[in-house]
Amino acid sequence: MAEISTGATAPVETIGKNKYFYDRRLEKVVLCHPVLYFLAQMKIQGKDIAEWLETLEDITVEIPGSGTFPRDEVLYYYRKLLFLEDAGYFSEISQGDILNREVTPDSIRKTLANLMQVTFELTDSCQMDCFYCGYGKFYGDYDKRENKHMDFPMIKRMLEYLNDLVNTPLNRSHNRPLFIGYYGGEPLLNFHMIEETVNYAKRLNWVHNTLRFTVTTNGLLLNKYMDFMAEHDFNIFISLDGDEKNNAYRVFKNGNPTYERVLSNVEALQKKHPDFFKQRVFFNAVLHNKNSVEEIFNYFNDRFDKKPTILSLNTNGIREDQADEFWRTYVNEEESLYNSEDYSRIEQEMFIKLPSIQAVTSFMFSSSDFYYNDYNQFFTIDKAPERFPSGTCPPFSKKLFLTVNGKIMACERIGQQFELGRLTPEGIVLDFQEIADRYNRWFSMIRKQCQSCYIFDQCTQCIFYLDLKDGKPVCGNFQNYANYSRYVSNYLNFFEKNPGMFDRVVEEVMID
Ligand code: SF4
Ligand code: SF4
Repeated sequence: MAEISTGATAPVETIGKNKYFYDRRLEKVVLCHPVLYFLAQMKIQGKDIAEWLETLEDITVEIPGSGTFPRDEVLYYYRKLLFLEDAGYFSEISQGDILNREVTPDSIRKTLANLMQVTFELTDSCQMDCFYCGYGKFYGDYDKRENKHMDFPMIKRMLEYLNDLVNTPLNRSHNRPLFIGYYGGEPLLNFHMIEETVNYAKRLNWVHNTLRFTVTTNGLLLNKYMDFMAEHDFNIFISLDGDEKNNAYRVFKNGNPTYERVLSNVEALQKKHPDFFKQRVFFNAVLHNKNSVEEIFNYFNDRFDKKPTILSLNTNGIREDQADEFWRTYVNEEESLYNSEDYSRIEQEMFIKLPSIQAVTSFMFSSSDFYYNDYNQFFTIDKAPERFPSGTCPPFSKKLFLTVNGKIMACERIGQQFELGRLTPEGIVLDFQEIADRYNRWFSMIRKQCQSCYIFDQCTQCIFYLDLKDGKPVCGNFQNYANYSRYVSNYLNFFEKNPGMFDRVVEEVMID
């Protein structure tokens, strides 16, 4: 295969007319002089700078867009360019080699032995019929909802299987919490299963991990079950889109609004368990055309002194016949934020809860040579070992999701056609070789695009959101050199406009 490589250094100009080099291999951003910037552009375009310098006869040189500079100064910056070249700038990145990593059965076993979260879809039943539901009319990539409930033997089998694996010496995450999550439908409709499994899981011996519990709920049954959840120190994620008007898409099956009922349950929880409410209760608000980032922020801030997580509607798996209505409902989070009267205050207060700040943060992490993903990486010399194509997480590295129909999946956010195994009455069918083969086949479909994509080492594109049906997915986020330069410039613009944000991310963003 011909070697595929891309230039590591991108000259980047910001709206403020500042000029930088951003080097992906060295992970450094360097503010630079306009002459140096001009020479770097010539170099990247493959022009012979030495030859050009010899043609300069006047004592001053016109640098397009930047003015006139003494010839000696131009020569000085040429020497600086050569110095930077010797220091490793302007090298090539061999993406053809880097993106050759493959999933192996052993790596899957190790990942599962260090699992961070197992989530059970306790039921596919729900009292609500939200307009934009991920299992509703807009989407076509989930199993039919049949009001099923998960039973205890199913959960028990999965917990025992995982307990055996995470207790092996392959576990190197000593004392790290292992989260047991409950999801639906509405998981509190199958509450006795939560009760039974919490009590059961606590009786099992977890050699390396501590157990934690988490539930995502629509809030309609909170009043009935809050004591149990407070007693077991659950993290509770309540779905609520803001005030009554903002929440208009979250309705009962008969179309009646759910807002008042949910609100009174949340208030009851706050009143009865104030400390627990403060520390362990979180809100997820979906952004759409009946609310805005500003309204959501003000509502949760004023009423509960909380910063909600704002979620955009999932744009993947949309049915063609619903696309028009979907896009009328959809609202872009960044646009909504910047349309706020006081967007800078909201940005400061919401901070890492905003997807835009999360994107800035991951740009910072992936473009800094002082950031390490974990302690293990701290001890390895090469921070950029081989990678998988795309930004897809390796199987089970984020979580294991068990559906009510017994499908074992990488997470709840992807189409249910991507099952990786099954839980059957006879046992768990999880063939690591087969999973590795499937991932490697999916990765091979996108590898070529990733090998010439400038964003390959900062990619967040999950492969399961691409159309894999005919084996030829086309990635809409592919970045050529020009797009990439704009992409970096956007982030540098952000830091120029928000100079305190860099320090704030370094100091406040928790590193797990
Ligand atoms: S959406 Fe994709 S990358 Fe994200 S957790 Fe799920 S499988 Fe992994
Ligand atoms: S953005 Fe698309 S093409 Fe680029 S690395 Fe990610 S998945 Fe590959």
